Amino acid sequence: MPELPERLAPREVTDPDVRRSYALDATVALAPLPDDFTVVRARDVDDVVAVLEHAQATGTPVVPQGARTSRAGGATASDGCIVLNVEGLDAIHEVNPLEGYAVVGPGVVNAALKQAASREGLFYGPDPASWETCTIGGNVATNAGGLCCVKYGVTADWVKALQVVLPGGEMMRTGHRTVKGVAGYDLTGLFVGSEGTLGVVTEVVVRLAPAPDPALTALAVFDSLDAAVAGIVALRLDPHRPCLLEIIDRTSVRAIQAFGDFGFPDDCAAVLLVQSDRPGHVADDLARYAALLESAGATDVAVAADAQESEALLAGRRVMSTAFESMGGRLAEDVCVPVGRLAEFVRGIEAIGERRGVVVPVSGHGGDGNLHPSIVYALDDPDSLARAWQAFDDVIRLGLSLGGTITGEHGVGSVKVPWLGLELGAAELARQQRLKAVFDPLGIMNPGKVFAAPPE
Ligand SMILES: Cc1cc2nc3c(=O)[nH]c(=O)nc-3n(C[C@H](O)[C@H](O)[C@H](O)COP(=O)(O)OP(=O)(O)OC[C@H]3O[C@@H](n4cnc5c(N)ncnc54)[C@H](O)[C@@H]3O)c2cc1C
Repeated sequence: MPELPERLAPREVTDPDVRRSYALDATVALAPLPDDFTVVRARDVDDVVAVLEHAQATGTPVVPQGARTSRAGGATASDGCIVLNVEGLDAIHEVNPLEGYAVVGPGVVNAALKQAASREGLFYGPDPASWETCTIGGNVATNAGGLCCVKYGVTADWVKALQVVLPGGEMMRTGHRTVKGVAGYDLTGLFVGSEGTLGVVTEVVVRLAPAPDPALTALAVFDSLDAAVAGIVALRLDPHRPCLLEIIDRTSVRAIQAFGDFGFPDDCAAVLLVQSDRPGHVADDLARYAALLESAGATDVAVAADAQESEALLAGRRVMSTAFESMGGRLAEDVCVPVGRLAEFVRGIEAIGERRGVVVPVSGHGGDGNLHPSIVYALDDPDSLARAWQAFDDVIRLGLSLGGTITGEHGVGSVKVPWLGLELGAAELARQQRLKAVFDPLGIMNPGKVFAAPPE
């Protein structure tokens, strides 16, 4: 690998164990760890420019990286690459209540941005479940969703403008800070969700909204999945939509209860968690949601009276990911289907689990039709892993057949590359690859992610 320019030497991670820890993200490892890669921890934009100048000049691949919480293998090292970690660009440059925006570095953690906005009585919407660790740069690059998307949308709905560094080191600004702005093509929109394949995001201008009321939670228990899905449909059709609407199925409930007693009944088919934060109407909304859920068939609905009870009802949801990890290895799915097809999707996933002989807890952002079936396999059994991958493929194809998408929020990364063409079709796939070549003619930005091969 070509030697780094002198100015980057102090930024290089040389300790072998620390260096290896930057090679992986939160996804199951698909390939053996590469040996030949360099890790640079940028401290400022000039470091990013220096890396991208050097990379273009030497044809070296670059993997932009935030907090490595990717669930799609988007931030993993590849052979001969420079892993460019930008967590150190973590300044909150400005919070502007009058214009309603904040300007932040890509390394700012989602929770820190929310807190900074809240100190000014403002609100930043997107809230991936990883919000206490993931970065805004990573959220932009993956167009991250989260628990509150049902009301507040995804990251793209909150990004106004970007500063990016392109291969070769050229800096480019996209978008606008004004309330309106329609000059030219929407390159901000192109970079949101581009998964590090076009350039490195070095500054983000996000929209801020007036803060809602503190949210309160209700938890509804169902003895059939169909009734739980009917509850989701009823709440989505409510004129005052909840700000959170999560589903947890029987297998997930059991995994959570095996991890610790979070008060879930063992014998239910599914649990829904729902929240309102509508200013001045939180209690009315929760009472109405409870009635709608009971009409849909809920056998029990618990409504929180205060913040402490609210947090207690959510506690099981918060540990769910860790609870699944204690079940063995898992392939985390992220298919999104039209909400009206959720019941078919959930029943289809159950059938896939039975057919392939794997356990598939189903949970996720039910209010968006975005589920995260976790396909569990035995860590020491290659046959079980092979069946898990078959089930993974089945779930994706089922989602597509229902009019859904292969990824609702985690991105294509390296995990879903084989399926992208299935969703896009040849005409769109070819044009997407040509678009990448406009920004990255040598194909050095995060190669092997999103697209199978670098564009010609
Ligand atoms: C427990 C858990 C819960 C999660 N819950 C959710 C959820 O509810 N919703 C959701 O959407 N996701 C969720 N995720 C996935 C993950 O947190 C998101 O994809 C997040 O946006 C990744 O941010 P990061 O800082 O960790 O980025 P990384 O994982 O480091 O990188 C992710 C991708 O972004 C690129 N990238 C990172 N920074 C930059 C940059 N500055 N410029 C250009 N490209 C960049 C990388 O190359 C990679 O392709 C969850 C993950 C975990 C582990």
